[in-house]
Amino acid sequence: MNEVIKKRQPIYLDNHATTPTDPRVVEAMLPYFTEKFGNPHSGSHYYGWEAAEAVEVARAQVAAAIGAAPEEIYFTSGATEANNLALKGVTRFYRDKKNHIITCVSEHPCILDSALDLESEGTDFTYLTVGSDGLIDINDLKAAITEDTLLVSIMTVQNEIGTIQPMAEIGALCHEHKVYLHTDAAQALGKIPLDVKAMNIDLMSLTGHKAYGPMGCGALYVTNKPKARLKPLFSGGGQEKGIRPGTLPAPLCVGLGKACELAQAEVVQESEVLRGMRDGLLSALTDALSGLHINGGMDARVAGNLNISVENVNAESLMAALPDLAFSTGSACSSASAVSSYVLNAIGLPGELAESSLRIGLGRFTTAEEVDYAAMRLIEEINNIRENRQVLSGDAAE
Ligand SMILES: *Cc1c(COP(=O)(O)O)cnc(C)c1O
Repeated sequence: MNEVIKKRQPIYLDNHATTPTDPRVVEAMLPYFTEKFGNPHSGSHYYGWEAAEAVEVARAQVAAAIGAAPEEIYFTSGATEANNLALKGVTRFYRDKKNHIITCVSEHPCILDSALDLESEGTDFTYLTVGSDGLIDINDLKAAITEDTLLVSIMTVQNEIGTIQPMAEIGALCHEHKVYLHTDAAQALGKIPLDVKAMNIDLMSLTGHKAYGPMGCGALYVTNKPKARLKPLFSGGGQEKGIRPGTLPAPLCVGLGKACELAQAEVVQESEVLRGMRDGLLSALTDALSGLHINGGMDARVAGNLNISVENVNAESLMAALPDLAFSTGSACSSASAVSSYVLNAIGLPGELAESSLRIGLGRFTTAEEVDYAAMRLIEEINNIRENRQVLSGDAAE
């Protein structure tokens, strides 16, 4: 059986980097590339109306998945753009009144780099730290809020360690001080139920391709009550009420809408299945191997995520020994640089353990057979590397 699996494509265990597009999503999108190809902003004929109607259905599906109203949804090219728009848009609109933002050291690079841009424009930033569980301390947030604080931006689910911040509590504190709360929910959509009202969230960034939707389409939710205002990033033809000009990609919007509909309908049951597989994988590994460390807390963590460090095993070497498995070491978003993960650093992991870290992301299409095979191969190659290391260092005889 192993030979059969080995000859196939590698088993995909990197669902935090991207997810395959659900065939039901592809099916919903296809007509909008071909016979229903109209520009959704063409107001003068049937083709335009047909595409516009599909975009509005999609907008309502996105809104429903997070408990928002359709008028509060702005389509973007993904979460990077939504995060840039949220931070820069709100700050540039309000900075004459308030000009301090609070975020966190373990945010995605598009948040941290937007913060650097805004700092160079004169905005003050406070960066909260996280504990070994990956979560902020609500008292740190309380202490950081000042009269000048405009916005807090904290991600709902961390993309490397899968930890879930207590958004409702964070939001309640923000609202007590009349501060807007933005959250990057790229890794949360379809992983945990989302409700912007119950979670006290004023702005939320979403992306299709982390939730079985298409790449290149996302959305920013912006609350209407109380209305949060933004300056657009782009100049253009006034689409999306001028907040995000540019022709909407109707097929991608349809795909994002369908992905949101599926996420909303299936999130609870799907995470139960994933939790079972993830916990099974973890116990298979801990039963067979010593020297494993779980990175980040297990209590508040999305079901499909496992991030572990394997003592005395370099993660890059392990990955090279496992071409039949597709997982990642640290974040794919920073894989161009050789530095060890700043997120693992932030939770206090020593450099050596950070370099021994694996991120495994199970997803909707992962099967129990694949997880069993992955566990078997990980154990095999981790033991191999550790034995070779002993032989090389000459202490095998001791
Ligand atoms: C993937 C990701 C992003 C970037 O989303 P894109 O749609 O690829 O631009 C932002 N934040 C988090 C947490 C992510 O995981």
